[in-house]
Amino acid sequence: MILKQTSLSNPIEEKIAWAQHCYQEFGDDLLKEKRLVDLLADLKAAVDASRREMALTGIVEICRRCDQEEGGSCCGAGLENRYDGWLLLINLLLGVKLPKTRQQTNSCFLLGKNGCLLMARHVICINYLCKKITDIIDPHTIMDLREKESEEANTLFVLHENIKTVLRK
Ligand code: SF4
Ligand code: SF4
Repeated sequence: MILKQTSLSNPIEEKIAWAQHCYQEFGDDLLKEKRLVDLLADLKAAVDASRREMALTGIVEICRRCDQEEGGSCCGAGLENRYDGWLLLINLLLGVKLPKTRQQTNSCFLLGKNGCLLMARHVICINYLCKKITDIIDPHTIMDLREKESEEANTLFVLHENIKTVLRK
């Protein structure tokens, strides 16, 4: 496969364009690799499990109120720069539609009207809990959530490395 270069330091629009190019050129081949298909399914299951746990703990509701009623969302402009083309490609393989423009000036490029647009998120986005949350939620509950999140982050790491290996063959 002839792969164009991508760099973490490129602007997000260029990294999205790179991911879309790879998806169009190689998406079908990647989705024929059983190892990748299994890892994508594992990642989706891990994401669903962490999100269920977040909803059960009440964190989803706290964040919704913070974002929509208190103006305190933590998804600020610039956080999109943590994402590389590979992570964006994984989102395309999971059926996510990546944005063409930033929806709110001071917010992350990847934030939509109803929250984050991504399914596969950077470990910083997976793990982040502000003090407002850690002050309210019981530490044991947070530990249970951390276990689910580490499953999500580990699966994502393995998938990330496997996709690179396949595409660089
Ligand atoms: S993590 Fe904290 S700052 Fe971020 S949206 Fe939730 S409550 Fe608000
Ligand atoms: S959770 Fe999503 S919207 Fe928020 S900073 Fe991370 S990528 Fe951006």
